[in-house]
Amino acid sequence: MHELPKSSDVVIIGGGVIGLTIARELARQGALDVTVVERASLGAEASSAAAGMLAPQAEADRADEFFYLTCRSRDLYPMFASELLDETGIDIELETTGTLYLAFTEHDVNGLEQRYQWQTNAGLPVQMLTPEEARILEPNISDGVQLALKFPLDTQVENRRLVAALAASNQQRGVRLVTGTTVTSLGIRHGKISRVETSRGSVLTENVVIAGGAWVSMLNVPDKGLPDIGIEPVRGQMLCFEANPPVVRHVIYSPRGYVVPRKDGRLLAGSTTEYAGFDCRVTASGMQSITSAALEICPEVSSLPLSSSWAGLRPRAADGLPVLGPCAEIAGVFYATGHYRNGILLAPLTAELIAASIAGQVDDPALDIFSPDRFRMALIN
Ligand SMILES: Cc1cc2nc3c(=O)[nH]c(=O)nc-3n(C[C@H](O)[C@H](O)[C@H](O)COP(=O)(O)OP(=O)(O)OC[C@H]3O[C@@H](n4cnc5c(N)ncnc54)[C@H](O)[C@@H]3O)c2cc1C
Repeated sequence: MHELPKSSDVVIIGGGVIGLTIARELARQGALDVTVVERASLGAEASSAAAGMLAPQAEADRADEFFYLTCRSRDLYPMFASELLDETGIDIELETTGTLYLAFTEHDVNGLEQRYQWQTNAGLPVQMLTPEEARILEPNISDGVQLALKFPLDTQVENRRLVAALAASNQQRGVRLVTGTTVTSLGIRHGKISRVETSRGSVLTENVVIAGGAWVSMLNVPDKGLPDIGIEPVRGQMLCFEANPPVVRHVIYSPRGYVVPRKDGRLLAGSTTEYAGFDCRVTASGMQSITSAALEICPEVSSLPLSSSWAGLRPRAADGLPVLGPCAEIAGVFYATGHYRNGILLAPLTAELIAASIAGQVDDPALDIFSPDRFRMALIN
């Protein structure tokens, strides 16, 4: 990896999927000299822990601004995946079999019927399936299924391959990827960013992108406080089984968990939602709740060998929504964080929005809706 430069047009704090996708987009646009500073290794944290589901419809209860943001980003993926393959030879395994959502109780059925109704009314593709129809698609799902929805446009990628492809693309495009280096504070002069301080020296810069995931609140900004966007780490645990031959073909959700089949025969099962600080360990109760949700979906899981387990920290802002765009208090500071459960899904659109805002193009309404300013406004009101 690269040495820390003395100066750079843009410094991106954090080498997860968000920071790396923004770096690639800026480099693609050609004009700027870009440095990514990563404390550990590229993609070391949530971006590798994720399940890689691109499933806005399966997860949404209403058609709000966030829902449309996630659908916009999902729809960028086919082009994004094919460009990354051309650039790097790495296939991020965009899988287009679709996503199933299963109901096992009356309460689950009511929830799925409502989801079906509003999405159908909104003209979105979604199919309602009887248990028999669902079993034709997935013969190994449980006999307890009462109803299923299929979301044909909701897909998945192999997020660890995505990290590798982004790293390779950035290398080729001349982005400096500085790992093992922590940004400790931001230097501000006359209301503008002037440098970042790191564990290995300082870098002069006029633009900083804060893409440090769950650790953003640890950045020290003396005197001139940034808005308090209240980023908190939310732990998600994951189990990985060996499924050769595969037991399911689709990503399958229930209200209590999900299973995600990978092309290489792994079956991921997730997840938990826990406020456990920065503790990133797997626990017995986490394993138990994930296993029981996976068995409810597909009893065949009971005979699969468990090959690994891990946990990651999702970056959640105070209102649970992404924080995107320029900071009103300090010129040259841009936020790209708070992606919470959807950072893999939102990466390509986040990169477009942040590259546009660094170039001074702030006419996309998403940059208003998800602006860091909303936290300042909330304090004033
Ligand atoms: C179990 C689990 C399942 C998930 N499943 C999905 C899914 O199916 N689909 C989906 O879209 N999303 C999913 N997510 C959410 C997704 O993983 C995150 O939203 C996304 O990875 C956030 O990306 P990021 O780059 O902001 O954060 P990260 O990947 O955490 O990267 C931030 C990086 O910044 C570095 N950093 C932090 N502070 C500093 C500093 N001061 N100096 C230098 N470097 C710093 C960190 O070391 C880290 O590498 C899941 C998350 C978990 C935990």
